[in-house]
Amino acid sequence: MTDKAFLEGRKYARAQLGRVLVLGLGVSGKAVARYFLDLLGTRVEALHIAAGKRNDAAEAWAAQAVARGAIVSFDTESFSESYDLCIASPGISEFSDFYLNAAAASTEIISEVEFAWRESAADSRWIAITGTNGKTTTTAMIEHVLKSAGLSAAAVGNIGDACIDAVANQNLDIYVAEVSSYQLASTRAFAPNVALVLNITPDHLSWHGSHEAYAAAKWKILDNLSQVPGAVAVLDATNDEVRAKVRELRALSGEERGFAYIPVGTKAGLAGDMRQACGSDNAAFVDGEGVLRVAVNGSERALCAADALRVKGSHNVANALAAASAALAVGVEPQAVADGVSSFQALEHRIEPCGDVAGVECYNDSKATNVDSVLAAVAAFGSVKPIIMLGGRDKGTDLAPLVAACCQHAKSVVCFGEARDRFIEAFEGAELEVLSAPCMEAALDEALSVAVAGDVVLLSPACASFDEFSCYQERGTRFKQMVAERSAAVKGE
Ligand code: ADP
Repeated sequence: MTDKAFLEGRKYARAQLGRVLVLGLGVSGKAVARYFLDLLGTRVEALHIAAGKRNDAAEAWAAQAVARGAIVSFDTESFSESYDLCIASPGISEFSDFYLNAAAASTEIISEVEFAWRESAADSRWIAITGTNGKTTTTAMIEHVLKSAGLSAAAVGNIGDACIDAVANQNLDIYVAEVSSYQLASTRAFAPNVALVLNITPDHLSWHGSHEAYAAAKWKILDNLSQVPGAVAVLDATNDEVRAKVRELRALSGEERGFAYIPVGTKAGLAGDMRQACGSDNAAFVDGEGVLRVAVNGSERALCAADALRVKGSHNVANALAAASAALAVGVEPQAVADGVSSFQALEHRIEPCGDVAGVECYNDSKATNVDSVLAAVAAFGSVKPIIMLGGRDKGTDLAPLVAACCQHAKSVVCFGEARDRFIEAFEGAELEVLSAPCMEAALDEALSVAVAGDVVLLSPACASFDEFSCYQERGTRFKQMVAERSAAVKGE
């Protein structure tokens, strides 16, 4: 595999990877360790897997790796040997002792997405998506548009295969990679053809140490764009922090910048056209007729009506404009882009329609585990005011914006679970019906008891799920079962 033709056909692959260290044994850690195991004795001289905490499943996995020649350690945070290359799992903070010790012991420390990109075919293209909210939806939307247009493309990373598995097994023309700030923190040479930054709001402060470090990690997505001919950045300018970057880029000449950028909306919102607002070359926006438009390379395309999207809410219009811009940037025909974004269906647990109980439409937004994402959901139903189910394990964040949004958009709220008392207190004095229930199931019944046909009941809890469930997916799945049971009971099935 180390022959010249292989290396020349890759973006940035090295003949000899030397002594390698894999930090963390999550999904991507296992994938990259498997890749290295196949290279032991050829490109890889020695493989050390620092597996983190010991548990039965990890030990069983490790035993197989050891049988194939790897060294596996558990519960260690320091390294006595040195390494040529370390691949760090996204869950490990770049400020943790584990990471810092590994970095000190290694010539180079990078993320799995960067390693996969290095090993991918030289002529493959990468679309990388980051942002505080909306990454998974936008990644899935781009994948849907590209696949529907007949391209060899797939989502990799968070949804779909681990990046390195896709590179090793699928040999795609276009990789659509959701990249978190964690992964970006450990990128060096990663140079996607299209980079999307959806929004940057405070999040993950404990991992990155500060908001500045979090934002700086996200902006690393643009670091090497100028080295890729024809590279494009898609930047949602309705977000303050992203718009500040657009302003910076606009101040540079095309030559200084080295890549093109498409601003989505303006400070005024998604209806703003940045060409008119500030004279930028490109723009993505919703026109006066409510139609999504993208102007790029001097030609402006009307795509589809915002109303025609199957996903709800203006945050999804933003995601669709960003996805459409990315698809046009890699050469998909405008009609195929319009067909793709408008046929994309909501992902599971994200304002997902899940049937009706006696004419009351129910939606599962279990992924909304923080206040910000609930703000997007409560406003997503136009003139219909949803009954919102809020609760679970409290994250302790400020509830004032949530109370304000619910008073404006909701018919009533039902507070449940561990967070119930603090949420009810936050709503005290608010002009809104506030109901209470001990657990999610009782909250659904409470919501249905005050709903009439045509109403919407929305589980958008603004809390983690761990007081009742193992994860948000289990909570959402249970919610859908409960809705189905009540729907069947009403129909007498
Ligand atoms: P991520 O992968 O970044 O966590 P998801 O696509 O899974 O994002 O969406 C998570 C939540 O964030 C959704 O429930 C939705 O309410 C909210 N959301 C989605 N897109 C956006 C956006 N562009 N801006 C703000 N909030 C969004």
